[in-house]
Amino acid sequence: MIVEGSVLVVNAGSSSLKYQVLDPVTEEVIADGLVERIGEPMSSVKHWYRGHDVRREVALPDHEAAIALVLDLFKADGVDIADSGLSAVGHRVVHGGRSFFAPTLITDEVRSEIERISPLAPLHNPANLTGINAVSALLPDVPAVAVFDTAFFSDLPDEAATYALDAEVAREYAVRRYGFHGTSHEYVSRCAADFLGRDVADINQIVLHLGNGASASAVRGGAPIDTTMGMTPLEGLVMGTRTGDIDAGIVFQLSRVAGMSIEDIDTLFNKKSGLKGLCGDNDFRSILERVAEGDDAAERAYRVYLHRLRRYIGAYMIELGKVDAIVFTAGVGENAAPVRADSLAGLENYGIRIDADRNAVRSPDPRLISTDDSAVAVLVVPTNEELAIARAAVGVVSA
Ligand code: ADP
Repeated sequence: MIVEGSVLVVNAGSSSLKYQVLDPVTEEVIADGLVERIGEPMSSVKHWYRGHDVRREVALPDHEAAIALVLDLFKADGVDIADSGLSAVGHRVVHGGRSFFAPTLITDEVRSEIERISPLAPLHNPANLTGINAVSALLPDVPAVAVFDTAFFSDLPDEAATYALDAEVAREYAVRRYGFHGTSHEYVSRCAADFLGRDVADINQIVLHLGNGASASAVRGGAPIDTTMGMTPLEGLVMGTRTGDIDAGIVFQLSRVAGMSIEDIDTLFNKKSGLKGLCGDNDFRSILERVAEGDDAAERAYRVYLHRLRRYIGAYMIELGKVDAIVFTAGVGENAAPVRADSLAGLENYGIRIDADRNAVRSPDPRLISTDDSAVAVLVVPTNEELAIARAAVGVVSA
């Protein structure tokens, strides 16, 4: 059965829908699933409920059809989600613009506002909204809460949030640095403080969220003072398929010299670049294997990735002045020991010492990987955006 007080967490992409049902108190995951290729001739569904796996290939024309199928899969296991005591639905929403700075109960006005700011994230917000509408059509009585990826960074210092662009143009088109992955940076920085037995308000941290998408943040006393993603999630670190920082002049060059359209360049920068563009691969496991085998392209991709990462670590050390902890999270940060070691290699003079044995340990739990005499604690803290969204949703509903 679904536990009374559980939360359904939904992350809707343009053609996908990820969901989890979890108990925000015990942290137990009760159900977990992924629907992909929504709107294509054949969609795929992976659904897991209390140890029971279901796979389906079926045509699902839209997100509402996808949610309806998921509810049917629960029914097949004897669970009526609509009547199961869910306390909330938590929706991940990518862009909150300058409108949403905290998790927000979804009303008609909130939906309209998410829609109004959609030009800031034309690929993400409309998809998130589709998920919100689909779920509320089928679960109209469960309160729904939007949790924004940008919210944690909404108070970035003005100098960190401002591009050196004509101020009129920037104001007119809301061009500024918003930051993303905020749910993860906030969750991980709190967990790291708990792990160290410190109050998050008393410590300075550099959080490195290294997944397929990747971002770093400098967090002073629990509040971010800088982050690598900007107006869009394209800026900053080298990512699986995204360029990260790139000279904007390259856009003009590719348009003028190569005759590429804005759509072509968007696809090139977001989907065909980063590690994949450099070596044809964006799975870090195979990149590390290829590096070990002496593959030149993979080795070069790895060097470029590390160079960018180290540049930001250095920048954030200066911005923070004093660093108490450096925290690795997400798929690469949690699993790729060589990336952790190489990104902090040679920084002993800055009080950063990695313990090779501790770094080699594999574990799903938060852990220390620095030596006992390292002035800066280096940690691995698994992120859990679903849990963070579930807790945020309950916080709003019970307020
Ligand atoms: P996202 O949520 O951004 O899609 P994840 O946080 O799941 O991404 O991270 C995906 C990345 O983590 C991939 O590059 C994958 O290769 C990498 N990864 C996962 N497991 C390992 C591992 N054991 N060793 C190295 N890299 C790993």
